Amino acid sequence: MSESPVIVWFTHDLRLADNAALVKAVETCRPILPVYILDDETPGDWAMGGATRWWLEQSLHALDTAIAEKGGRLCLRRGGSLDVLKALAGETAAHAIYFSRNHAPWSGKLEQDIASWCRENGIECKRFAGYLLHDPENIRTGAGDPYKVYTPFSKACFATEPFREPRAVPDNMQFWLGGIAKDDIADWKLYDGKPDWASQFAERWTPGEAGARDKLERFIAEAVGDYKDDRDRPDLFATSRLSPHLHFGEISPHQCWHATRHAMADGRRNVDRGAEHFLKELLWREFSYHLLHHWPDLMSEPFRPEFADFPWSDDDDALNAWQRGDTGYPIVDAGMRELWATGWMHNRVRMIAASFLIKDLLVPWQRGEAWFWDTLVDADIGSNSASWQWVAGCGADAAPYFRIFNPVLQGEKFDPDGAYVRRWVPELKRLPPAFIHKPWEAPALVLKDAGVVLGKTYPKPMVDHGKARDAALAAYQKIRKSA
Ligand SMILES: Cc1cc2nc3c(=O)[nH]c(=O)nc-3n(C[C@H](O)[C@H](O)[C@H](O)COP(=O)(O)OP(=O)(O)OC[C@H]3O[C@@H](n4cnc5c(N)ncnc54)[C@H](O)[C@@H]3O)c2cc1C
Repeated sequence: MSESPVIVWFTHDLRLADNAALVKAVETCRPILPVYILDDETPGDWAMGGATRWWLEQSLHALDTAIAEKGGRLCLRRGGSLDVLKALAGETAAHAIYFSRNHAPWSGKLEQDIASWCRENGIECKRFAGYLLHDPENIRTGAGDPYKVYTPFSKACFATEPFREPRAVPDNMQFWLGGIAKDDIADWKLYDGKPDWASQFAERWTPGEAGARDKLERFIAEAVGDYKDDRDRPDLFATSRLSPHLHFGEISPHQCWHATRHAMADGRRNVDRGAEHFLKELLWREFSYHLLHHWPDLMSEPFRPEFADFPWSDDDDALNAWQRGDTGYPIVDAGMRELWATGWMHNRVRMIAASFLIKDLLVPWQRGEAWFWDTLVDADIGSNSASWQWVAGCGADAAPYFRIFNPVLQGEKFDPDGAYVRRWVPELKRLPPAFIHKPWEAPALVLKDAGVVLGKTYPKPMVDHGKARDAALAAYQKIRKSA
């Protein structure tokens, strides 16, 4: 019988570097049993969506390979996390259970239950930070309240620098190699490829720690300097595309922060402006989790309660056209098709597409949130719910409801040549830039030359934006009067 192991329970920290739970487990000089649990007991509608299940499968393969290179194996089990940990602790006579803290509203209770059970059974239990830069409890206003506004929140975060060095991968890991049952990931059927709707994901993404590191390095080397100027341009490689890697914890926010600060300290020309802005964007992720921590209903209930009475028009046909990318507004359709094909959408286009659903079609923001939950590879309870509420105007520090994105002007401003639309809406690709964002205004001859027949090869606009805007503002007046 081998020595009692420390169970290292991997959750949203699918990496070996900068992983405090792993480092501290190695420091005990006991063998380690790395474990991942597919927990089917996630409450409500928040079980993993299709795109994140695709990612998880790849990411677990990558983690298992990285652990195997160090001489161990990742133990996979399915079931309620507490029950599985109890069983594993019994089967291995575990000395301890170490894990990284999670920030879903239900995680705190689960983690407390695990700690209590460990205490009662003489097993050491330790929980470590790492998913966020700051503990959401620790960032408070002068009056001791949670923040509701991003700018002072971000200033408070900047004020608590310097940040620590990321932790290296421990080089002396010993693994517990006793014989216990392990699940085969194929049996979990996370993604069965029938139909193979995610066939393009693998061309775009390399899930796992190495893929995350490459993304960060490439972004810092090639794009961070121009980030402030270009980050709103979906037609350029101007943002990091780190969001799914951060969501699964294949890279920590500390590693991203540290690499950015390093590039700034290196004194490379023109890096500072863009890099500083990138740090601020990382703090939007922190702000989302700060809000979720203090307002755990954020995923389903409007932060501003008067929006509970908003007169939505819950139209399934409208929702379906938006989901398919068939609204007749090219920038919206390009975004929705990029999302379907790649599991990701550029932030500016997320804002435009979400605004269109909520304000032009008056579909409740929760339905858009649910679609993103299912289709985004970075679907994340903190960032997704806070962002949808932000666009809907019902969130903390949200854009005012009456600021309604005009999809044509947004397209012309942020995709000036139409390259992004041409890529994702190829039936419009021969339209000249002057009409690419408003094909219905193109003269008949221009449409004919471009091979576009509105209503046939590409839809006519499903609503008139001007009228839809008026209807949205009228709907908003109703809740303003009742507030
Ligand atoms: C309607 C809507 C839904 C969204 N849903 C999600 C989601 O489910 N998961 C998710 O990670 N992001 C979400 N976002 C935020 C943002 O769009 C993505 O984080 C960003 O597009 C990811 O691309 P990137 O990694 O290239 O970002 P970069 O611009 O390179 O930013 C770096 C990192 O900062 C964080 N970040 C940047 N912008 C934001 C933001 N506005 N809010 C929170 N974090 C941010 C992300 O972790 C991102 O990876 C949503 C935004 C909108 C408008």
